[in-house]
Order: sequence, then C-alpha cells, then structure tokens
Amino acid sequence: MEYRLLGRTGEKIPAIGMGTWRIGSYNTAEERAAQVRALQKGVELGMNFIDTAEIYASGRSEEVVGEAVRGTRDKVLIASKVAPGHLHHDDVIRACQASLRRLGTGHIDLYQVHWPDSSVPIKETMSAMEELVKAGSIRHIGVSNFSVKETDDARAALAKSEIVSNQVEYSLSNRYVEPDILPYCRKEKLTLIAYSPLARGRVADTIPQALLRKYNMTPAQMMLNWVTRDEQVVAIPKAADIGHLEENAASVSTKLAPADYGLLEKS
Ligand code: NAP
Repeated sequence: MEYRLLGRTGEKIPAIGMGTWRIGSYNTAEERAAQVRALQKGVELGMNFIDTAEIYASGRSEEVVGEAVRGTRDKVLIASKVAPGHLHHDDVIRACQASLRRLGTGHIDLYQVHWPDSSVPIKETMSAMEELVKAGSIRHIGVSNFSVKETDDARAALAKSEIVSNQVEYSLSNRYVEPDILPYCRKEKLTLIAYSPLARGRVADTIPQALLRKYNMTPAQMMLNWVTRDEQVVAIPKAADIGHLEENAASVSTKLAPADYGLLEKS
C-alpha cells in the first residue's frame, strides 16, 4: 500500500481506503457478518482508513464499522460525518456522541461536515468541532462537498485547528473538481478524499485492452490508480466482495507512464 499525508498533520493514510455507503443495510445476521468480515479483510490488506457517516443505513454502518475494528482499533483510522441537519452547535456535539456510541470507540480520527448548509453560520459549526477536538472526541476536522469558497470560510472560522481534508466526488467519469477544488487542495495541502472513485460500480468498459495488458490491471484498478495519481488524493472505494477488495488494495503499487494516464483520460 502507498501512503499519503493527511493534510498538514504529518500523519500517514493509505492511498486506498474503504467507503461504507450501503454497509449496514442487511436482512440477516449472516449478511451483517459478511460485511464485518469484508471490512476486516480490507484492513488486513492495508486499507486501514474507513469512511462512514451517521446517515449511512441510519447509523447501522457505524455499528458495523465499530464491530469490524474491535481488537484492531488502534491500527485503523475512522472517518465519520455529521449530517447537514445537525450543524447547529449542540446538534454537532450530540451527533458526534451518538456516532462514538455506535462505533464503540472513544474517538473519531477524522470528523467531517457531510454537506454545507448555508442556513447555519459556519462559525457555529466549527466552534463545536473545535470543542470536540479539545475534548478528545475527534482528532481532525474535515469537510465534504464543500466548494473552495466554503472551505475557505470554514478554515477562517477555526481558531486553533485546521481543516485537513475535503471529501468530494472524483473519478474518471466525474472530473468536476479539477478546475478549482483539486488545485486548491494541492496549494493549501488539504487531502482530497475521492468518493465514488469507481463511478458507483459503473466501472469503465472503454479502457483500451492494450493498456490493461501493459500494466496487468483490471479496469477498476486503472480507475483507482488514475484517481490517486496525485499525491494530494486518496480514494475510498466501497467493496463488499473479497475479490474486489483484493483488486482495490493492489491498485496503486505501479505508477502509469504520464502518456498512459493521458490515454486513459481519452478512453
Ligand atoms: P464506488 O466506490 O465508486 O463504487 C462502489 C461499487 O463498486 C460497489 O458496487 C462495488 O461492488 C463496486 N466495486 C468495488 N470494487 C470493485 C472492483 N475492484 N471491480 C468492480 N467493481 C467494484 O461508489 P460509492 O460507494 O458511491 O463511493 C465510495 C464511498 O464514498 C461510499 O461508500 C461512501 O463512504 C463515500 N461517499 C461519500 C459521499 C459524500 O457525500 N461524502 C457520497 C457518496 C459516497 P461490491 O460492493 O459488490 O464489491
């Protein structure tokens, strides 16, 4: 696994972590156990950065993540998110406490504002985030789906802490961050956490066979390799299938030649 720095913290995170949207939705105890095992397998493979949110499966995603890391908690970085309806000061505190309970942990490594909400002053939200840092409930503060302006405002609203990351959609199929959000993250040294890096499972079927053969990669591996080609980017593909997890964990060991990244973008 390749590692990247989380914002300016000096802390290392894997270039490929794991998403958990839809994890926590299950009908049987067996299905739940398989989700726990998949996350554990991913951690064993080096993807020890798990992204969840209070709204995923109405909190059950956090419960499954908590169960998966029992016994290995100190080796895993957990990221969760406070929902847009919870951005007033006291709601942020309560949402975080509820997430900690569901995760069964004393702290969240990266706590992110899931979406901006212009009806709540960002200063109010960020003052609650800083209180959570001070209390040791969260280690780092991040945002998600924030524009450059919204990120700047959030950073300016913090007294002592920093915004370390912005989690946004980024894949070969969705490159909207490239004109402004990605350059901003590079310049300001924020980590761009790429969500839906496999286009929500609509893995590209147009990648030239010659390219796949040249690097002995699958289309999904090419997509993950491409999205994390920038040192400022980490990706959080969601995979329940063990074969997918193995593919994803092995997707960044080789760098493509710059011209081949160009070919990929045209495919
Ligand atoms: P994604 O990771 O782009 O795609 C997930 C889909 O790809 C699943 O159906 C998975 O199948 C499949 N897949 C995984 N590895 C594969 C492989 N090697 N080959 C072929 N197919 C593969 O989509 P996502 O779940 O939308 O995004 C990832 C994570 O980002 C989420 O889980 C969530 O944590 C986060 N997210 C955040 C936001 C936000 O607003 N901040 C929004 C959306 C998502 P299997 O499960 O069957 O393996």
